Amino acid sequence: MAKIGINIATGSLQKEEMIVGIDLGTTNSLVAIIHPESKQPLALKEHNSSSLVPSIVHFDEAGNVTVGEAAKQFLITEPHNTIFSAKRLMGKSYNDIKDNASFFTYKVIDDNTESLVKVQVGDKFYSPIDLSSFILKELKQRAEHILKTPVTRAVITVPAYFNDAQRQATRDAGKLAGLDVLRIINEPTAASLAYGLGLGKEESKTIAVYDLGGGTFDISILQITNGIFEVLSTNGDTYLGGDDFDRVIVKQWMKQSGLSEAELFENKGLSQTLRLKAEEAKKLLSNAENFELELNGNLLTISRTEFEGLIKPFIERTIKSCESAIADAKIAVSEIESVVMVGGSTRVPAVKNAVSAFFGRPVNDTVNADEVVALGAAVQADILAGNNKEFLLLDITPLSLGIETMGGLMDVLIPRNSKIPTKVGRQYTTHKDGQSGMRISVFQGERDLVQDNRKLAEFNLSGIPAMPAGLPKVEVSFLINADGILVVKAKELRSGIEQSIEVKPQYGLSDEEVERMLLDSITNAKDDIAKRALVEARTEGEQLLETTEKFIGKNASLLSQQELIATAEAMQALQLALTMEDKDLVHRKVEELNEISRPYAERVMDQAVSTAMKGKTI
Ligand code: AMP
Repeated sequence: MAKIGINIATGSLQKEEMIVGIDLGTTNSLVAIIHPESKQPLALKEHNSSSLVPSIVHFDEAGNVTVGEAAKQFLITEPHNTIFSAKRLMGKSYNDIKDNASFFTYKVIDDNTESLVKVQVGDKFYSPIDLSSFILKELKQRAEHILKTPVTRAVITVPAYFNDAQRQATRDAGKLAGLDVLRIINEPTAASLAYGLGLGKEESKTIAVYDLGGGTFDISILQITNGIFEVLSTNGDTYLGGDDFDRVIVKQWMKQSGLSEAELFENKGLSQTLRLKAEEAKKLLSNAENFELELNGNLLTISRTEFEGLIKPFIERTIKSCESAIADAKIAVSEIESVVMVGGSTRVPAVKNAVSAFFGRPVNDTVNADEVVALGAAVQADILAGNNKEFLLLDITPLSLGIETMGGLMDVLIPRNSKIPTKVGRQYTTHKDGQSGMRISVFQGERDLVQDNRKLAEFNLSGIPAMPAGLPKVEVSFLINADGILVVKAKELRSGIEQSIEVKPQYGLSDEEVERMLLDSITNAKDDIAKRALVEARTEGEQLLETTEKFIGKNASLLSQQELIATAEAMQALQLALTMEDKDLVHRKVEELNEISRPYAERVMDQAVSTAMKGKTI
């Protein structure tokens, strides 16, 4: 299968263009390439600046977007317009993140707890995909500026624990940024590749990748067999990292100088200075024994021994995670043959020592810990480009395969460039009470609306027993066998009824057609994703209208006249918004209706609970 590059500027197909590796991180992101002459992986940077681009997006009053170092300065002064850690929101619903909601200083919409989260800035709504696409766009532009050539193809890394939806969201973000995402690979896999692990032809190895960044910790156990990486287990803590190390230093200094929490809360400038100085101290202590600072007449100190004492509980937590990961992988620690270190915080000697003591072997730490993931992504990109002739490319799917969901959207089950054979399953449900059948339409292509893709097959799963909407569990599975035959199966799990169909996705499809379909998907990406966002907003609006109507029908007698009128008006406004082509308007009207219904919905709930409790002895 030939790899196709598309020059967005000219619309022409390019066969020789470089493929970049991108580490789209929670805190920082960066781009790497394989240097065409030295053949070595290289992180891209402008003269005298860092290769790291802070994963921060700032919106000004006029809606202008800045990304990276320039956006970082607004973190403290404009917390509502400055979005950090968007990666933590990828593919998540509000329910998924509500326990950590206080972490986000910007507005994460919390009404529709089941649907995907959105961030509100002024009167605009952004999905995590939009936010990530701004970061990717910046990375793309930087890379183009440095390389002086268009950059349109990339390999992007994601955490090993990312699910299908999160991976698809990352692909979409790439597409929206004008990038043809050739493959999404796991961060630990990329880190291993950067160390040359898994590149040997007949290599078989079990390794651990320990990744301690600014705000997250991940440990992954990987099994490498003949170039195939299998994740045996992952563990970690999504809220543990170098930022915690900075905080304990700030705490020690507060004690030394007699500063209170309240004083720091009041004085944002001082609080920011302390945090930055603490980070500086931490980094210096990786090489020095003591750090001293004079601040407003106070002498603030910290020694390496003190620092190591303060962060010991955090390090112990990471080691506990390593133990769990080893147990989940069903192996012994002694079977781990290499340990790869990733993330800036692994530069702390106490961290290195603890990890090496746990695994009973020296760790791999020679590659720059901040860049190692991007460098590995570049290695993978080079393999995909066919430059690494030593490395055999496995059979892959040239186009994505998926099914049609609500509003004519394409839901991808097997992304393009997946290795075959492969098997993927996903659960769906009904959206009408008593719905007895479900039509499964199978499509191929990269566009967001199925009408722009190629239809491969269609069948009906009928005989679903009558159940309320949302209760049936229909598992749709896609299996592509080694001969490239796709078997699509749908099974309702509660009743066991099932139906399947077989197709040959490549049948009648020439290389030129595949190229055209890819080119279309990139040139229409902006429009497609806007359409998808509108369809999703409308579906959300329609569902809210339906549930509100049901609720009012049941509980009208418990509501005041005023509440009924306000609700009717808000419903009408939402209904009207649904007929217009404006997703932000739909989101605003959904918000307004939710604001009105929330107080009485809670009241009616409470009443129902207290009625149910009456007469019951506890
Ligand atoms: P990452 O998310 O991988 O970019 O890691 C960033 C984290 O690594 C931040 O908390 C940094 O303060 C931390 N870090 C970077 N360099 C050092 C160093 N030399 N010693 C200790 N921590 C560091």
